[in-house]
Amino acid sequence: MSFSRYRYPVAEPEFGEEELRNVIEAVRSGWISGRGRFVEEFEEAFARYIGVKYGIATSSGTTALHLALVALGVGPGDEVIVPDLTFVATINAVIYTGAKPVIVDIHPDYWCIDPDKLEKAITPRTKAIIPVHLYGHPCDMDPIMEIASKYNLYVIEDAAEAHGAEYKGRKVGSFGHASCFSFYGNKIITTGEGGMVLTNDGELAERIRILRDHGMHPERKYWHEVIGFSYHMSSLQAAVGLAQLGKIERFIEKKRRIARIYAEELSSINGITLHPEMPWGKCIYWLYSILIDSEKTRISRDELAEKLEERGIETRRFFYPLHEMPVYQKYAIDTYPVSSRISKKGLNLPSGVKLSDDDVKLIVKEIKEIIR
Ligand SMILES: *Cc1c(COP(=O)(O)O)cnc(C)c1O
Repeated sequence: MSFSRYRYPVAEPEFGEEELRNVIEAVRSGWISGRGRFVEEFEEAFARYIGVKYGIATSSGTTALHLALVALGVGPGDEVIVPDLTFVATINAVIYTGAKPVIVDIHPDYWCIDPDKLEKAITPRTKAIIPVHLYGHPCDMDPIMEIASKYNLYVIEDAAEAHGAEYKGRKVGSFGHASCFSFYGNKIITTGEGGMVLTNDGELAERIRILRDHGMHPERKYWHEVIGFSYHMSSLQAAVGLAQLGKIERFIEKKRRIARIYAEELSSINGITLHPEMPWGKCIYWLYSILIDSEKTRISRDELAEKLEERGIETRRFFYPLHEMPVYQKYAIDTYPVSSRISKKGLNLPSGVKLSDDDVKLIVKEIKEIIR
């Protein structure tokens, strides 16, 4: 059964008996809000999976980012560096705190923030950098951490699209002072809506927990020393998340297999750039993505997308560069030639774990027919 109007949607979750069993158990236990065994179990299991000490589950990836920023003391008067090509949640979370986002261009080879352009964006007010592991590809973390340490900046990884991706053999989300994940319905694993902050810093974890719970003093109930939020993940969601986590390796293997087939089948087409994987990284291909050079393919990215749509194949254009949107224009500090170019050419292809090898081959066949 599918609720999508597409034969092949860009992303689609996969659920089984395990999710149902856990949800039933959560309901039967009567603990369906932010307390109960599933939230803590999910936090511990996911933190362990990424290789970080503490996990704090939240209502979304966006609220995870917001909590991490507030808990690190980011606020009015501060600046936070974000990449130009990302989902808007990254920059919005900065704006919620009252801090000023500063937009930096991306690297042409792997589409994440360009470490060589970071230092130019740093001012005495810079407090943090949010590298985004875009479409499942890791950022180049070594130079980012080096620059952060040189200027005494926090690094908050936005790993909302990169559960299980690796940088030099270590999972992303384990490099920054904090990292944020999303479990939205189209992410690698899902809780419907949901997110998590991870950190190795016990005091930071405690501050995040307090801020998530209305700022309530952990021992003195209904005594509030800070203005907090209500950003809990419910036990029902965590019950789903825990079951999903048990399948994450299979999901990632599946995404990498889909990527392999796309790469094999599309590599012969003149004018298509394949989804990169740098030698230092393991990409989990959240959404398998290509760049279309329309001078060579003689069809524009948008025309190709339209024709695929007619054939029941959903695709998605890349995110618009933040600096091009009127609401974010004022946070531009430079020109952004790389993200402008890549955003115009980029297309996300169907990447759901339910796709069979033959489904992917059929999608490629349609692409080839349209381009030919
Ligand atoms: C999905 C996503 C988020 C936020 O996720 P929500 O759970 O939808 O709030 C943040 N950053 C990036 C890069 C994302 O793709």
